[in-house]
Amino acid sequence: MSHKRIVMVGGVAGGASCAARCRRLDEKAEILILDRGPYVSFANCGLPYYVGGVIKEESKLLLASEALFRDRFNITVRTQHEAIAIDREKREIEVRELATGRVYRESYDALVLSPGASAIRPPLPGIDLPGIFVLRTIPDSREIRAWIELKQARSAVVVGGGFIGLEMAENLVHRGLSVTVVEMLNQVMPPLDPEMAQPVQQHLEAHGIKMALGDGVAGFEKNEAGQLVVKTKSGASHSGDLVILAIGVRPETALAKAAGLELGERGGIRVDDQMHTSEPFIWAVGDAVETRDVITNQATLIPLAGPANRQGRIAADAICGRVSHFRGVQGTAICGLFDIAVASTGASEKALRRAGITDFEKIYLHPVHHVGYYPGAKEINLKVLFRKSDGRILGAQAVGEADVARRIDVIATAIQFGGTVFDLEEAELCYAPQFGGAKDPVNYAGMIASNTLRGDNPLADWSRLGCDSALLLDVRDPDEFEEGHIPGAVNLPLHQVRSRIAELPRDREIQVYCGVGQRAYYATRILLLNGYHAKNLPGGFRTYQQITAANRP
Ligand code: FAD
Repeated sequence: MSHKRIVMVGGVAGGASCAARCRRLDEKAEILILDRGPYVSFANCGLPYYVGGVIKEESKLLLASEALFRDRFNITVRTQHEAIAIDREKREIEVRELATGRVYRESYDALVLSPGASAIRPPLPGIDLPGIFVLRTIPDSREIRAWIELKQARSAVVVGGGFIGLEMAENLVHRGLSVTVVEMLNQVMPPLDPEMAQPVQQHLEAHGIKMALGDGVAGFEKNEAGQLVVKTKSGASHSGDLVILAIGVRPETALAKAAGLELGERGGIRVDDQMHTSEPFIWAVGDAVETRDVITNQATLIPLAGPANRQGRIAADAICGRVSHFRGVQGTAICGLFDIAVASTGASEKALRRAGITDFEKIYLHPVHHVGYYPGAKEINLKVLFRKSDGRILGAQAVGEADVARRIDVIATAIQFGGTVFDLEEAELCYAPQFGGAKDPVNYAGMIASNTLRGDNPLADWSRLGCDSALLLDVRDPDEFEEGHIPGAVNLPLHQVRSRIAELPRDREIQVYCGVGQRAYYATRILLLNGYHAKNLPGGFRTYQQITAANRP
């Protein structure tokens, strides 16, 4: 009896994990990986750090070699072999050996497409000028490094303020370059809400990175000094010795499309929850596929390594006769930038609004990552979104110097299990002074949100600040108030709220704030228990500063 022939197109995150699991599930199958690039199973995520010199040797980026696949897994790898067509009727693919141009056919019983995504290079004037790079592969990173060395580059323009753009900006700074980031949106890190992106922007600026936000690129030129000039739609020019284009990726669907496979509404390959395409013997995984966002229930493209790897395993299960299902994506992601980490999971506020979801509430908090009395406590800037009707967690964003990943990972896991803010309130997490608090930031988030839903801590809406007849009450100490406060606020320090309560109006809403929200909560409780109509402005003055900075033109 002949054995199953399983062919992978693309041998990196999705394809390699699928191939290796196929082998673990089927000892007899013939497994072939084709990749048009020179490597399989390389660490795309490490590329910015190789450019920056943090990862010193290129070989460290190679996670598995052709020999390892052969010797350990009995899998054949052919690099620099490109799949150019799929013959669905005959169950064959046409392959071009790039070194020779030879075209040949391979039959399959199961075909897995994991061709990834390609970096977007818009057809703008000057886009093909030497010195304009994208970063997707090891050769790309090698070319960038070589250019920097050859040109003795001292400056760079990074177009795109998302994860890859900002990682590149940081790494170019590590190499001693002065860097300008040009971004079409008014904020960096598009997955975050604008006010949460503010501390990120400030941190980058503090490290000398110049920001040109809210301005799209119109074209590229070369100036007399031989530098590249990025021209923007506003008429501004930003020059540098090189340009990194990091404005997003597009799913690689050409092969699938030509073979008549269905694409989804976002342009990715359509798959079911076992990664099956519209064609019986073809599966697809990774950046090329469209999946379901578990929060908004909308089709989405999420180019992240975690989903690609999990999808590879699920496709392998399906091919080998096991039943497992992909749960959808929630976009859990993290990025390190100099001394801070920026992480998020689930939906942002703007994503909820875009999806037409209005049943949500949000809180902000700024706890320290471990108890304040133990040296080295660092603040975490946290935003949590949850359903008003039942407390279900919808998303979280965090920025801070320490242990940001841990908090977002806990919340991400809670989201996967359909958790609520009441679950976060009760979550039992590890604690010793140098690691957290007996009430961890995650617990605090749960408590604040739960208190809100129980009516113990009604929240005022920052967007309604100054629009109402409400009294704005600042319960910080006078010296803090003097240093800066929300215009129109009245100062009544927390310790005087009980004794001077009669000075406050009973017939108006009182919007209470403090530094980060805790004292305002105490004051809100005093006022509510005394019959006043009080609401807490979540996250306090710190959040106010972030919101006003984000709204500044
Ligand atoms: P890829 O890993 O891109 O692999 C696709 C492979 O298919 C490529 O080698 C390509 O050559 C090959 N191929 C395409 N078409 C053909 C064809 N017709 N024939 C043969 N071969 C073909 N994700 C994170 O979660 N965290 C991070 O920190 C992170 N950092 C990143 C940093 C950078 C610079 C980049 C580029 C990506 C980063 N990602 C990160 C994203 C992550 O790498 C991808 O989501 C993941 O690699 C997708 O896996 P994939 O298998 O779909 O595609």
